[in-house]
Amino acid sequence: MPDVTRADCVARDAADPLASFREEFVLPEGVIYLDGNSLGALPARTAAHLQHVVTQEWGQGLIRSWNDAGWFDKPRTLGDRVGALIGAGPGQVVVCDSTSINIYKALVAALGLRPGRDVMIGDRDTFPTDLYMMQGATGALGGYEQRLISADGPELADVLDERVAAVLLTQVDYRTGRMYDMAAVTAQVHAAGALMIWDLAHSAGAVPVDLDGCGADLAVGCSYKYLNGGPGAPAFVYVAHRHQEAASQPLTGWHGHAAPFAFTPDYEPAAGITRFLVGTPPLLSYAGLEASLEIWDRVDLAQLRTKSLALTDLFIELVEARVGEHVQVVTPRDHAVRGSQVSLRHEDSYAPMQALIERGVIGDFRAPDLMRFGFTPLYTGYADVWDAVDVLTEVLTSEVWREPRYATRLAVT
Ligand SMILES: *Cc1c(COP(=O)(O)O)cnc(C)c1O
Repeated sequence: MPDVTRADCVARDAADPLASFREEFVLPEGVIYLDGNSLGALPARTAAHLQHVVTQEWGQGLIRSWNDAGWFDKPRTLGDRVGALIGAGPGQVVVCDSTSINIYKALVAALGLRPGRDVMIGDRDTFPTDLYMMQGATGALGGYEQRLISADGPELADVLDERVAAVLLTQVDYRTGRMYDMAAVTAQVHAAGALMIWDLAHSAGAVPVDLDGCGADLAVGCSYKYLNGGPGAPAFVYVAHRHQEAASQPLTGWHGHAAPFAFTPDYEPAAGITRFLVGTPPLLSYAGLEASLEIWDRVDLAQLRTKSLALTDLFIELVEARVGEHVQVVTPRDHAVRGSQVSLRHEDSYAPMQALIERGVIGDFRAPDLMRFGFTPLYTGYADVWDAVDVLTEVLTSEVWREPRYATRLAVT
């Protein structure tokens, strides 16, 4: 048995400076939710805010709400609030579209900012939509070559040269939880004369990020994962001030136009970050993010990081002590390179995760062979970690996961 006891975990919860945030989220009885990195939990205030936006702003305000309720400015006002969570000063982030679409816009804009260079670099191991969008962008533009790095090589230094225009990397790997040193990698890319695009899908709301301080050029990310914006909540895109006037993105819709209500036939980009907008924002989805940002505006990200590392350390320690012979921890032990998740490799992984979910411990399976557990410090406590490992131990040592019903694959894993 491990040195730490459940009573120790309860005591740590009682002393946790972030503990009061838990009551700001709705979580079902009997569930330990370790999947806030795929779909963040529902904030308690969200339903009432959505109700207000629907019945008052839409129902009563009607089209007047585009002005009166600030609808037209939401991509920018919410963008600045998300910016505060990722080290971006005002006027550099807009909330809009999906992460996939923002990757496309950011990539093509970055390539345009480095004329004469014809290579983009991506990561073979990243969440595939990033690669798919890169393939789409190269296909549409023509004349570009893609180079992919990977954990098995080649490394960035092997493929970075004077032909490279842009590098797109996900800061925290969705499978392993391994985290890049943003400042060091950005400097390495700049030394080769290329631009750096960061995907913050598993960083925003998970780890402190300092885009401005690291000299990042462009970035994208999700609001429905750690930021609790709700299923399909809009994504965000960051473009550093110094690039905005020269940047042009390919999806030249009217919300990115300099004068959208002049209805002129020719596209003319808006000044600043606004040119990264495309079409009419889905306001009901923005309302979900707006509600969760009421919580996130009050979060001390240094405290969040401290607790995140303590939770993941505890999980790793308990897993190794209790089921170390059944699983391999693939997430780095080194705090400097760990995001806010822990992934375990098991001979099956899919069926054990189904058995865990049936017992109220919700994580996810990531092909080909990982169980992934996300740790969200605002609503996950130390005793939750203890209890989750207790259930994992039962599932693995009893081998109940071998029952055939756990092997049935669902559409969404
Ligand atoms: C979750 C995730 C996405 C999601 O993209 P959508 O367009 O929102 O579906 C993109 N990139 C990475 C790295 C992710 O982890």
